[in-house]
Amino acid sequence: MDRNPEISIVVPVYNEESIVEELCSRLKKVCDGLNRSYEIVIVDDGSDDGSFEKLQRIKEGTMRLVQLTRNFGQQSAVLAGFRMSRGKIVVQLDSDLQNPPEEIPKLLAALTRDIDLVTTVHKKRHDELMRVLGSKLLCKFGQMLFGNAVKLNLSSFRVMRRSVIDKIETCRDRSRYMAVLMSWMGLPSVEIEVEHHVRKKGTTKYSFLTLFKLSWDLVTGYSNLPLRLVTYMGLFGALMGFLMMTFLLYQRMVNGILIEGFIVLSAVFAFFAGVQLLSVGFLGEYLGRVHSQVQGRPDYIVGKVME
Ligand code: UDP
Ligand code: MG
Repeated sequence: MDRNPEISIVVPVYNEESIVEELCSRLKKVCDGLNRSYEIVIVDDGSDDGSFEKLQRIKEGTMRLVQLTRNFGQQSAVLAGFRMSRGKIVVQLDSDLQNPPEEIPKLLAALTRDIDLVTTVHKKRHDELMRVLGSKLLCKFGQMLFGNAVKLNLSSFRVMRRSVIDKIETCRDRSRYMAVLMSWMGLPSVEIEVEHHVRKKGTTKYSFLTLFKLSWDLVTGYSNLPLRLVTYMGLFGALMGFLMMTFLLYQRMVNGILIEGFIVLSAVFAFFAGVQLLSVGFLGEYLGRVHSQVQGRPDYIVGKVME
């Protein structure tokens, strides 16, 4: 095997037993057609369905297999693959063949001299309605958080130069959301249109709930919006309280009216108690992040590596 290949293909695999064979053969065919030296780095993200055993059986010269000790999540698996790869140019794609490997040459062609990163958009996305909706929401939400200075592209099918991965390493975030970090860096990049296929076998690992958690991660991981909201709510509450006190005092002193009322009181109380609890919750969320950042555990643990 070439120790310094020109191109590395990085693929995370999690419970894709039914598809790895087709994946490997199609990848190999496409790569052979490139007439450039290459390696295929497959990271098994703790599959428990026999994917790894199958991969071991079909592994050959140009493939490298990495097995994580358990399921660490797609982002960590991709990071592991990036680190294991040796190519000057790195291609990242999903293992489920929804990103057709046959599009790889198109992406490589778009990586011209002054471009560092090629991202993709789908002509038409073939996924279930809820999955597409979840993704759209996540993207809109992320874009709102980052503002217009960052052009967010969350697709996991992309080609980049080694320098991009070196830059990823300098981001010491706890949740290394690759697509977000790469968008955030504002590198010279192009976006091209690719086909998207139906997932023929296996199931998506992203339910609506998982996507919701991801967007929450996006909020607290990459923005101070909740903390700012808390400040605004606090300001609003304090202002309201002050105005009400002034009003009550005025009524009592000038007009001699004493306003009472359990309902008014409980409404006001519920509002402010809510604001306070929410604030404490937000603070706790960030504290949790700081805690996990201070611990500084690695993103994943590598079990086996097969060259
Ligand atoms: N994946 C992974 N670890 C996980 C979840 C997913 O490595 O914990 C891989 C999965 O095998 C696939 C890719 O990440 O190659 C994208 O997952 P999926 O196709 O389920 O997501 P979707 O297409 O719905 O975005
Ligand atoms: Mg998929």
